[in-house]
Amino acid sequence: MPKSKSSTDSLNVFSYAFFKSLGEAEKPNVQPVQIPSVIKPEVRVAKKQTKQPFVSFLVFDVEATCVQGANFDYCHEIIEWPVVLLRWKSRTEDGRASELEVVDEFRTFVRPTFRPVLSAFCTSLTGIAQSDVDTAPTFVEMLPQFKMWMVKHGLICPDTEKRLQRFTWCTDGPFDIRDFVVKQCFISNIPIPEWLRSDVTDVRQLVTLWLQNRDSPTKVEQPSYRTHRSHKRPSLNLTSQLKALSLAPFEGRQHSGIDDTRNIARIVTELARRGVRLEPNLYINPGRRWNWMGSRRGEVLEDFL
Ligand code: AMP
Ligand code: MG
Repeated sequence: MPKSKSSTDSLNVFSYAFFKSLGEAEKPNVQPVQIPSVIKPEVRVAKKQTKQPFVSFLVFDVEATCVQGANFDYCHEIIEWPVVLLRWKSRTEDGRASELEVVDEFRTFVRPTFRPVLSAFCTSLTGIAQSDVDTAPTFVEMLPQFKMWMVKHGLICPDTEKRLQRFTWCTDGPFDIRDFVVKQCFISNIPIPEWLRSDVTDVRQLVTLWLQNRDSPTKVEQPSYRTHRSHKRPSLNLTSQLKALSLAPFEGRQHSGIDDTRNIARIVTELARRGVRLEPNLYINPGRRWNWMGSRRGEVLEDFL
């Protein structure tokens, strides 16, 4: 698939990427990661059978409403919900595996309800047109459809919604569930589903750690949930992650949720092939609040926007 870059991938995206790379608690001491300028191409048959505790991987990258210059405090509403399900081709009885494959994809646009009209900036950034969201289900309507898809794949119990197997969400950076989903559930006035509250793997952090430990990738140490926020680590965008792993360049359109998701899935697959243990590394606080949130769930305080 040819790569086409959004016309907004210039200064605005840079400044936003800057915010995105820093996170709230990580402003000082950010050092650029040294990516070797020459990366020797690898023959991709070599496999490292690492003990992998998780059975399935739900790779996902949502898109959300935005306006030019908005930072991560904005009242984002989800407008695209794309998920790629990865599973091991084979896994030994003691859990060793290295080859992941795509089992299925789920993708839908989502109609925002608080601010239903997309900004021209948002459409230009994400490629999502007003007509795409106008005809789409709202977040509350979309969730049961997605739940059925998870049930079909044996991931959760249809009645209790409890997990039936060990799966982890794989996202590029910490934002998709920690911020976008938490905000959306507040705006939609619904509790965050149990199956979205935990087991989240920040793939960007795995790649960063892998780079830092590239001489002994299986010994990569992950920060514990508690210490995660205090770790001041540099951040790599998807293009840099693909390059660092010697993978082909980004496929598709950047900031299209489904294309971002498919490229993250390629990165996860490559990390597995290189023997990186794929485990959750991000704590989700379902009670997290932004200052535009009123005291009642669903209440958005216009004065703070
Ligand atoms: P991404 O996964 O990088 O495509 O970004 C996810 C969401 O973050 C987008 O759908 C936007 O809502 C927001 N976003 C990304 N880049 C920018 C930007 N340059 N300016 C404002 N919001 C952005
Ligand atoms: Mg995206």
